[in-house]
Amino acid sequence: MRNILTVLLGAAAVSAFAQAQPRESLDPKVTEVWDLKPKKITANPVFAEAPSDAIVLFNGKDLSEWTTLDGAAAAWEVKDGAFTVAKGKGDIKTKKTFGDFQLHIEWRSPAVVEGEGQGRGNSGIFLQERYELQVLDSYESVTYSNGQAGSIYKQSIPLVNATRKPGEWQAYDVVYTAPRFSDNGRVIAPAYITVLHNGVVIQNHTQINGPTEYKGLPVYVSHGKASLKLQDHGNPVSFRNIWVREL
Ligand code: MG
Repeated sequence: MRNILTVLLGAAAVSAFAQAQPRESLDPKVTEVWDLKPKKITANPVFAEAPSDAIVLFNGKDLSEWTTLDGAAAAWEVKDGAFTVAKGKGDIKTKKTFGDFQLHIEWRSPAVVEGEGQGRGNSGIFLQERYELQVLDSYESVTYSNGQAGSIYKQSIPLVNATRKPGEWQAYDVVYTAPRFSDNGRVIAPAYITVLHNGVVIQNHTQINGPTEYKGLPVYVSHGKASLKLQDHGNPVSFRNIWVREL
């Protein structure tokens, strides 16, 4: 049902935009979905230690596996086996690049609640630097549903809201299939993503429609392997226990 809705919304938006206007001039509210609210449930996080064949992307001590987008040393704060977004230091990304993978990542929105909606505990995990799995304090906060925690931002609403309280650790387990492109850049197959939030399926083989866009509709652009990117949205969101298994 949601997929059908996504298609319909997409079709309506395409005809409305005609994709002719420059993206910057578009109204970001057009791609927000407010009227479908995922049911709120209580879930217990699964803090899975890395299996023997995993690539560990954070050792609890330093950001040696990460850089800024320009390739400089990542400057987020590392403390007590976790690291935290340092406001204004910018996004960071892994030095290693990935195609298809399984990902485990744990995150925590700030215990001291500040801001609201998209300004409360916002970060994000950009798969292949392009496709955002939203990180947000969605415990008792109001925002558009396709922008809440566990959404594929502005594309797919999570099946339920499994968000735990701010200040509590939570986990995403992700199975990601990268998009396939022909030699001349056409999409042969879109990306797909399955996400468990605190052990609960919230995205079930969800089709990703293109790179995450704040304004307007996504449009695929051909690419190869790419990094995991974490978003500096200005909120002190923390991360720990990050590992990937290539598929
Ligand atoms: Mg975000």
